[in-house]
Amino acid sequence: MKKIMSMLTVVLVVFSTSVQAQKNTNKIAPRIIILATGGTIAGSGESATKAAYTAGKVPVDDLLNAVPDIHKYGKISGEQVAQIGSQDMNVVTWLKLAKRINQIFKDNLADAVVVTHGTDTQGETAYFLDLTVMSDKPVVLVGAMRPSTAMSQDGNRNLLDAVMVAADPKSQGKGVIVAMDEKVFDARDVTKTSTTNLETFRSTNFGPIGLIYDGKVSYYYQSLRNPSKKFDVSKLNELPKVEIVYGYADASPETVSNLSTIPGLKGLVYAGMGNGNFGEPVGKALANASKNGIVVCRSARASAGRITLENEVNDAELGFVVADDLNPQKARVLLMLSLTETADRTKIQQNFFEY
Ligand code: GLU
Repeated sequence: MKKIMSMLTVVLVVFSTSVQAQKNTNKIAPRIIILATGGTIAGSGESATKAAYTAGKVPVDDLLNAVPDIHKYGKISGEQVAQIGSQDMNVVTWLKLAKRINQIFKDNLADAVVVTHGTDTQGETAYFLDLTVMSDKPVVLVGAMRPSTAMSQDGNRNLLDAVMVAADPKSQGKGVIVAMDEKVFDARDVTKTSTTNLETFRSTNFGPIGLIYDGKVSYYYQSLRNPSKKFDVSKLNELPKVEIVYGYADASPETVSNLSTIPGLKGLVYAGMGNGNFGEPVGKALANASKNGIVVCRSARASAGRITLENEVNDAELGFVVADDLNPQKARVLLMLSLTETADRTKIQQNFFEY
């Protein structure tokens, strides 16, 4: 009898340990798909010490193989969506990425997605995905400032951190985020601030929402600008055309009037001086464009702050909208997406205060 009891105990212990192990495995094995788009993180140079390199050379499988530790965070697989320097990022690739991520989550193929991307336009892509991905699951963008062949390259570390962030349940419900250089940023706020420094990404108004160290992420803030209503791009193959024009002292009105003649132009983002200001000649050209049906959005060339309505500019009378605290390139993203749903300037303005 004693023997049977002790055998039973052993069986029970083994069973409960294996259930516990199973639970732990489930806990630490999220399925993460890495969508690679190119950029410096996949860049390759001739020498480890020279700066010259070509972005978007290393295929996704090599990227993953270079960082075997990513597999300790979950079940990792990779897909090559594009292979470009992000200066060549475009609306077609944005739509492809958004559709693929939405499909992945709809078909329950992954618990999180990591997008590897060049840093030049990473902020715009992050914001575009933030506005179009319809899931609470983590979507993390990551890149590198030094190519994979460089001495002290930052890509491997950044990729490992991004996978760790994507695997962490705390990263859910935060919208699209950017994990770079031991920090986590909200997609809406983050921007590249230095042409070459490793510490290039910043949220100039609000700072990072989380910090990464030693394989862990700690969150401190969360943006309130993460509306549950996203833009549905599932049936779109292009977006309404919106361009950006830069403001400066003594700018010629032709900077605006010539741009306004681009066929099919629907919107114009003006990167204005100070609180989105312009000199008189440019102001007249913007008013003209607005009267001719182009939605004019005032934003700022300054790197922080926001544009306020009706400050020195009579926005209501001119039919202008303001970008709030979005930088010009992100204002363009929101204006393009808004124009897929409406041409009503009041509604578009509302989007700028909500998204
Ligand atoms: N122009 C390249 C790109 O954006 C280099 C920038 C980078 O990835 O760091 O892809």
